[in-house]
Amino acid sequence: MTPVYFLLVDDLEENLLSLEALLRREGLELLKARSGDEALELLLRHEVALALVDVQMPGLNGFELAELMRGNDRTRRIPIIFLTAGAADAQRRFRGYEAGAVDFIYKPIEADILRSKADVFFELHRQRQQLADQRDALEAQAQALQQADRRKDEFLATLAHELRNPLAPLRHGLDLLQSNHEASKNAEILGVMDRQLFHLVRLIDDLLDVSRITQGKIVLRKERLELLTFIRSALETSRPLIEAAGHELTLELPETTLWLEADLTRLAQIISNLLNNAVKYTPDGGHIRLSVKADGQQAVISVADNGVGIPQHMLASVFELFAQVDQHLERAKGGLGIGLALVQQLVVLHGGKVIVESEGCGKGSTFTLTVPLATSPAPAANPSLAATAQPPATKAALKVLVVDDTQEVAQTTGWMLEELGHEYRLVNDGHLALEAAHAYQPDVILLDIGLPGMSGYDVCRALRQDAALKDITIIAQTGWGQERDKASAREAGFDHHMVKPVGLKALGEMMEDVAAAKSAASNPQPS
Ligand code: ADP
Repeated sequence: MTPVYFLLVDDLEENLLSLEALLRREGLELLKARSGDEALELLLRHEVALALVDVQMPGLNGFELAELMRGNDRTRRIPIIFLTAGAADAQRRFRGYEAGAVDFIYKPIEADILRSKADVFFELHRQRQQLADQRDALEAQAQALQQADRRKDEFLATLAHELRNPLAPLRHGLDLLQSNHEASKNAEILGVMDRQLFHLVRLIDDLLDVSRITQGKIVLRKERLELLTFIRSALETSRPLIEAAGHELTLELPETTLWLEADLTRLAQIISNLLNNAVKYTPDGGHIRLSVKADGQQAVISVADNGVGIPQHMLASVFELFAQVDQHLERAKGGLGIGLALVQQLVVLHGGKVIVESEGCGKGSTFTLTVPLATSPAPAANPSLAATAQPPATKAALKVLVVDDTQEVAQTTGWMLEELGHEYRLVNDGHLALEAAHAYQPDVILLDIGLPGMSGYDVCRALRQDAALKDITIIAQTGWGQERDKASAREAGFDHHMVKPVGLKALGEMMEDVAAAKSAASNPQPS
């Protein structure tokens, strides 16, 4: 505990020494000043609980010192006990009280009186200190709660965003199936819906898993299996993603057969989570290495990529629930920040551990998990979709450029536009959007906000600054639907803001409005 400071001011050394001897106690530090000036200096350096001041001193006397103390914010409230020889007359006492005295002690000093008075101030100060400590602790608690609350709000906003992403193509697909659309597309539309529904279920499963693990409700169904069975199962899930992103995958597998006593679904889930992250956090056309080996009684499985890497200060926290390195806009690829928390908890349930290494931003990441010996690889089909579609040659009322980094959202939006009789072109990133806007000269741009590299806001601002393009109707089509997101969109120059999933009907109405406004602008009514 910090000591309590008393200030003793007396010009005579022997008085100071005898005061010191009388007052000494544990937790009390006595500061001794031989003049008023020295006292002022000490007052500046210490937080003093009580000043015991001799009235009669050469130079600055006790009363003058007290008056100076009262004139200063830092020292104004320090209680002062004057030490004075003989009973002071009423006038002197009055001056003393006016100068800030709380008491007078007369010389020769009675030890008991001095001690009992000093004790009161000592205890008072201690209580104040305790109250201040309690207040600091409460403030820290309140801050921690506020931070947790903010994290929860951010998580909920991210969750809503992440749920909308797969919902959008589902809505689009359903709308198309219910309309009189071209039946030859049925199989493709159903394929999209099927995959998106799978994502949605996966997302919700992860959420439920986190909550189950936290409550200790997950029970592993362990079985003795060849390690390669686990790797094969994980690769079945992740390979389509790896291929769609054009990543090269290197497998380093052991020559001998290794066995694990583990839960097939869970261990495969762990490995495919790490692989999916490697895909997500590595620019297209990257390199992912999955290696498996035995090290004594342990299986060591590592997933390395040459992607965006992880800054040093985040290495320790990426396994925490909801921890994400970047702001959501730049992150663009989505996610809830629960995948790695889940990985870590599942690995621990298997009696293993997982670590991450990265040389820093842009230098790739390596996740290595160690489990007591027994895991699996195998391919699946690649569902890649064309980035651009052929616009229908006939009766296109509007030319629409669709910009969305989720290909399936872009594609189903395109199909809906086609269904509505419009012409469209699709691009998947912000820079391409600017190029395509020049080449294609669209009437309308449907622009996603969270794009990699250049956000939708930046694209919109760039379009508005380009004389040749500034009259295009720009509509935000985004998963971010809070009021402040709409305000940001307006500020960036968007004409309209639509929250995903945008259904066929809403899209049709919006396009009709835009077409009507365009024709009104090109055929103004005579006034
Ligand atoms: P999510 O991917 O949903 O955000 P995760 O829990 O899987 O959540 O990952 C937490 C964070 O760790 C990610 O947001 C990302 O910033 C970082 N991260 C995970 N894997 C990698 C990787 N292979 N390379 C770079 N960063 C990664």
